[in-house]
Amino acid sequence: MTPTFAPDLEADRAFMRLALDQAQNAWLLGEVPVGAVIVKDGKVIATGYNRPIGDHDPTAHAEIVAIRQAAHLLGNYRLPECTLYVTLEPCAMCAMALLHARFARVVFGARDPKTGAAGSVVDLFAEPRLNHHCDITPEIEQEACSALLQDFFRARRKEQKRPEESVHDACLSGIEVTELDIEPPLC
Ligand SMILES: [Zn+2]
Repeated sequence: MTPTFAPDLEADRAFMRLALDQAQNAWLLGEVPVGAVIVKDGKVIATGYNRPIGDHDPTAHAEIVAIRQAAHLLGNYRLPECTLYVTLEPCAMCAMALLHARFARVVFGARDPKTGAAGSVVDLFAEPRLNHHCDITPEIEQEACSALLQDFFRARRKEQKRPEESVHDACLSGIEVTELDIEPPLC
């Protein structure tokens, strides 16, 4: 039987680099840099980047933004032939959205030891009591995905050391500050 997808490391890396480009868009807007792309039949059909601060929307994680775009484009609330690439391990909210949408496959970059729901904190994708399961490919372009987040938090801490800026700005993170931080969070 022909599988519904053929894992291809080079293709996975190429799509993850596109997700990294999306993450850069988030950084440009001052959001924690996480990006996602959705692929169907070898083509990118939707993109998203983390933007909860700018959108005043706590659900506006990269995955949710991309899922909404893909579902709207395909005119279907289920996306069983799609693969989502995201630079950071999905949180529980995004993992459940991916399961609700019946994604065939999810590929992620960096692990998130604080909120990751694909094995780091919980593994919703492997939960036998849930009725759908995605194929998960972890740690594609992991170093680049982790480095981007580390660079972002390092740059933000540097800015926060300037006396004219409010420490409160440190609280305006769209996602939990992760272990990827070298120093403890300010809030
Ligand atoms: Zn999420």
